[in-house]
Amino acid sequence: MIKSIFDSYGTPVLIGMFLLFFILETKFELRKRVQNRWKRIVINFIVSIPAFALLRLLFIPAMVWLAVKNQDWQIGINYLFGGPAWMKFVFAFLLLDYSNYIWHILLHKLPVLWRFHLVHHTDLDLDISTSFRFHFGEMIGSIFFRGAATILIGAAPLMVLIYEIVFEAATQFHHSNTKLPFRLEKALNIFIVTPRMHGIHHSMVKKETDSNYSIIFSFWDRIHKTIRLNKHQNEIVTGVPAYADERELTIGKLLKLPFTSIRKWKETERPLDESDNKLKS
Ligand SMILES: [Zn+2]
Repeated sequence: MIKSIFDSYGTPVLIGMFLLFFILETKFELRKRVQNRWKRIVINFIVSIPAFALLRLLFIPAMVWLAVKNQDWQIGINYLFGGPAWMKFVFAFLLLDYSNYIWHILLHKLPVLWRFHLVHHTDLDLDISTSFRFHFGEMIGSIFFRGAATILIGAAPLMVLIYEIVFEAATQFHHSNTKLPFRLEKALNIFIVTPRMHGIHHSMVKKETDSNYSIIFSFWDRIHKTIRLNKHQNEIVTGVPAYADERELTIGKLLKLPFTSIRKWKETERPLDESDNKLKS
């Protein structure tokens, strides 16, 4: 099943997405780059190799295995009530996305998880290659949390795979440095997380990083009032203040980073715009 869905359909779609947004962000740049693009691409891809291997060889099989086993165990919200299959499909998709919103908050708020998620946030530019820059430790942690969510939701195996493909595509999309037509992005942002919205989450200003946790649907941040949109992209300084020296962000140092003593967030004094909280060009 994983081979016939994820490998045969998911992988070509994700490679296509990558190529499309790679070209788009080259032609229509949203935020000015501060680092050499190719150097970052090499770093981000090499750092991502262990996480990638774990995703395909452990994470996805584990999620599908749990969902298959759960068809016997019948634990989880979706098994509590009857109803048409499409309804359970929509319900599981929404709740899987909501569980990832919560997981993302935990990655920021629990010190042990922040150690690993920090590797992703230390990128000093934000583009499609950042969507691969995850420490493999974060992937291991997510197996437990997202595995529990899969069971509690009672998601069907096919749903788990489809959600995962959309999740990966959404992650590529909202990290990309593509300048979409502003009105199009504003319309998309009503429902989904867009590059300008997620760009604010990667800001060096703590209050801005502590917002916009959603992955696919943007309404989780709206519901929980963790949304922050009123920031011009050219005002964002991307990264983590205490880790802003690119000489410290080599492949070896990034892989070791979670196991070192983690520096405090040095707050950059910058007044927050508390005005309308509407998306800015
Ligand atoms: Zn984050």
